[in-house]
Amino acid sequence: MVFKFPIFDDFLSLIYPRICMACGRSLFKYEECVCTFCLYHLPKTNFHLEEDNPVSRLFWGKAKICSAASMFYFYKGGRVQHLMHQLKYKEHKEIGIYLGKLYGKELSKTPLFNTSEYIIPVPMHPKKQKKRGYNQSEIIAMGLSQSMNIPVDIKTLVKTTKTETQTKRSRFNRWENVKEVFELKEHDHLVNKHILLVDDVITTGSTLESCVINLLKIQGIKISIASMACAYH
Ligand SMILES: [Zn+2]
Repeated sequence: MVFKFPIFDDFLSLIYPRICMACGRSLFKYEECVCTFCLYHLPKTNFHLEEDNPVSRLFWGKAKICSAASMFYFYKGGRVQHLMHQLKYKEHKEIGIYLGKLYGKELSKTPLFNTSEYIIPVPMHPKKQKKRGYNQSEIIAMGLSQSMNIPVDIKTLVKTTKTETQTKRSRFNRWENVKEVFELKEHDHLVNKHILLVDDVITTGSTLESCVINLLKIQGIKISIASMACAYH
């Protein structure tokens, strides 16, 4: 027999008070995920307001994009790193939704981003996603989608494994040549559309670059990029 205690959740919140995901301080009832102090002091980039910024420059001469931006600067040991860690490894998906929604509101106000028609998160390999339970970029995309009022597309761009043919190598070495690559599925609905490609943290930009190169195979597509944090300042 299973007993259900409706007051159990309240009881739990007494033992485990809701805390700020950036600094660990207890949250007031009206605060959500991040405390008011952190929300004010988190290092915002405002890159979404300028076409030429350190994130968009990463793609110059490599992959043709319209605009690129990142919500926060990423400092080693900083609050943003802590937030991203909670989202990526500690199952705090609510952070992705919350920050995605906030950023979406900002992006909707700027002409560089407000013509986006679909959101595509950087895909994770299905095996990895099964192990982790979710793809953090997809969670951020869901938050963005709520405030930008445009759909998330997780079916068109997928990650898969490709074994490179190495006939002269031994079977053991062949195993080492299994590579993760991006692949395009059915994409007629994206012809001539402006899509927003979403990642959690931008470091070298090489993952996004290979996503862009794949998506550019779609006729007339325009691609912009949004991430939660970037290591460039
Ligand atoms: Zn805080």
